[in-house]
Amino acid sequence: MSAEKKFRIAVIPGDGIGKEVVREGLRVLDHLANESNGQFSFESDFFPWGCEYYLENGKMMDEDGVEKLKDYDAIYFGAVGFPGVPDHVSLWGLRLAICQGLDQWANIRPVEFLPGVPRRLNHPDVETLNWILVRENSEGEYSGVGGRNFSGRGNGNEVAVQSALFTEQGCERIIRYAFDLARTRKRKKVTSVTKSNAQQYGMVLWDEVFARVSKEYPDVETDQQLVDAMAAQFVLHPEELEVVVASNLFADILSDLGSALAGSLGIAASANLNPEGCTPSMFESVHGSAPDIAGEGIANPIGTIGSAALMLDHLGLKEEAKLLNKAIEETTRKGFLTRDIGGTHNTVEITDAIIENLSMVK
Ligand code: ATP
Ligand code: MG
Repeated sequence: MSAEKKFRIAVIPGDGIGKEVVREGLRVLDHLANESNGQFSFESDFFPWGCEYYLENGKMMDEDGVEKLKDYDAIYFGAVGFPGVPDHVSLWGLRLAICQGLDQWANIRPVEFLPGVPRRLNHPDVETLNWILVRENSEGEYSGVGGRNFSGRGNGNEVAVQSALFTEQGCERIIRYAFDLARTRKRKKVTSVTKSNAQQYGMVLWDEVFARVSKEYPDVETDQQLVDAMAAQFVLHPEELEVVVASNLFADILSDLGSALAGSLGIAASANLNPEGCTPSMFESVHGSAPDIAGEGIANPIGTIGSAALMLDHLGLKEEAKLLNKAIEETTRKGFLTRDIGGTHNTVEITDAIIENLSMVK
């Protein structure tokens, strides 16, 4: 038997339901490791960063937090956000600090129907949905460029500037990533989303890079859409989409729409990747901390467990990733559903069912 591979995972449960669903994801990972006959194991270190940490320490994470995370093979993340802490403080202080600090420039968000989950998108030609949203994750509208108070705060004349930063290199690497990904898929199609009629600098640069890179991929079908038209197309012509590549803000908005169309924010998984593998990648669900249901034990863990499947795949445990996705499908197909997707099962029951189904789908 080959020597055991030990993967070091940094776990950041964060706030609200983040803690509840990460706990379940780790149960699934432990189960897989126990069943691997010594092939692999996970060593998890917990970091208590988040809004409660902020309220006690005045910071969302340690100053050398990003440095600490560099030692790990992957990061498993819950969610941040807490009533009383402004969202821009929690987001920039932790999640964006990690994504940008570790150069996780590609955010991958699959949008898929799950069997047995009532979907919001009822289109006569669409039985399955297999989209992947590829989100630029290091610049664009979330570059943090700008400022406030240009003409005095409090006098009713304040001016704030929020700029979007687009570099040719940043556009090119994410667009190229989308094309390479499309090549591995059935339909081999990339749709690029901008608003280059109104945003005449950065998004025009993006369009130009897209046109240039696309010439190197003659085998991949392409389409370019404005984001407003794209939102309508998600609903009216879902059959036209496969890989969708967009800027930081636009892909964020479209991924909430996509996951809602598939049934719920609670089922959507995501990976923040450093595709070069120089720094660890981070795996988290698309949803936030959901303070409205935190502590009730009813959060849907599927987005976070699906993100663990993305992590397994990234770590090279491809078979286990496939098995886990199958076990999730088997679970919803059998009617194990949380409240957000029309069921009555709680968080722990869904995870128990997924673990049980893991041995059945083998
Ligand atoms: P963020 O700003 O972090 O994106 P948000 O304000 O968009 O957060 P979410 O926390 O994503 O809010 O929640 C939006 C809605 O979806 C809430 O009503 C919440 O209860 C519901 N929701 C989100 N995630 C889940 C989940 N895993 N299970 C059940 N319901 C969820
Ligand atoms: Mg949101």
